[in-house]
Amino acid sequence: MTFMERIYLPAILKGMWTTLKHFFRNVFGKTATLRYPEVKRDFAPVYRGWHVLKRDEQGRENCTACGLCAVACPAEAITMTAAEREKGEENLYREEKYAAVYEINMLRCIFCGLCEEACPKEAIFLTDRIVPTDYVRQNFVFGKDMLVEGVEPEKRIDVKVRQKHVTEKK
Ligand code: SF4
Ligand code: SF4
Repeated sequence: MTFMERIYLPAILKGMWTTLKHFFRNVFGKTATLRYPEVKRDFAPVYRGWHVLKRDEQGRENCTACGLCAVACPAEAITMTAAEREKGEENLYREEKYAAVYEINMLRCIFCGLCEEACPKEAIFLTDRIVPTDYVRQNFVFGKDMLVEGVEPEKRIDVKVRQKHVTEKK
């Protein structure tokens, strides 16, 4: 080591200069943080967040519980239980088979979008919605109550904007 290196002082001063530089930049300059959730950052159009299970125009669930999304999922985050559609339930489920239980563990999910790509029924899509925070792990296992979109027009989840950008990118 040279004499200057042995006394450590220049290295200490250099480190302090870096700290002060970032300190004043954050105090007087553009801050790196936002006051979320009051202020929200713009996301890329292809951002992948909270999934939605879509319904068709008549309000019937598109998902037919084929399980392809679960097979495609690298994180093994999706589980489901299939059931046969009963007589009189034609207005609820589009196909003869449907998912009586459909769950995604959001703590396992890596938001890769492979479930969306694997789905042959246009039933599952990732949206630009952020998965809400929680203190309880079990609350991150989203069931159909958190995934299936509402029947009413105002409760439908629009996935067209994201899909348009994904298609253009391809
Ligand atoms: S986005 Fe990826 S990790 Fe998440 S549920 Fe779908 S396939 Fe699994
Ligand atoms: S979401 Fe799609 S791929 Fe997954 S079980 Fe339903 S129909 Fe099959």
